[in-house]
Amino acid sequence: MNPERLRIEWLSAGEGVRFAEVMNEFGNKVKKLGPLGKGEGIDKNELKSKLEEVTKLVPYIKLVKREKLATRLDNIEEYNELFTSDEIDSLFREVISYYIDPDKCQACMTCSKRCPVEAIIGGKNQIHVIDQEKCIKCGTCFEVCPPRFGSVKKISGEPVPPPIPEEKRTIVRKSKEE
Ligand code: SF4
Ligand code: SF4
Repeated sequence: MNPERLRIEWLSAGEGVRFAEVMNEFGNKVKKLGPLGKGEGIDKNELKSKLEEVTKLVPYIKLVKREKLATRLDNIEEYNELFTSDEIDSLFREVISYYIDPDKCQACMTCSKRCPVEAIIGGKNQIHVIDQEKCIKCGTCFEVCPPRFGSVKKISGEPVPPPIPEEKRTIVRKSKEE
């Protein structure tokens, strides 16, 4: 997207005239740029799906770049140099996903209780599965899965394996088999 579509100004509540000026200037600029996507030569549907993908990644980006985003900057040069295009490209290229190894999951339910967006499907004696559409990549499941199980995998740069079929998710404990 054209970066000119974003403008950040700090204005105090007492600066009504300045506020009106900024809004008028910016409104005129955006009108000149034309509708989002059209001005950039991006098809409407492609734009919609790209925006949805990026929106889903916002919590992940905030998490992986939290230290950088919290840096106090003093001047415009520092702002301009904070993120390079290469860094942003590699951020998207190396997006991390989480996957539960069905051979290791012991259905202890720790991860599903701690997932902040209820993206983990599972229950008692059920191998847990991450709903990749809902997952915001916070990494909590990776951190809380007991080390003796080590069932949650971090995946980067390769596709996430498909989820184990529902009919194969029940764990039959040895004592019950006998
Ligand atoms: S990474 Fe976070 S959001 Fe995704 S499944 Fe694990 S706990 Fe849930
Ligand atoms: S915390 Fe680990 S072992 Fe427990 S249900 Fe989740 S993935 Fe399975």
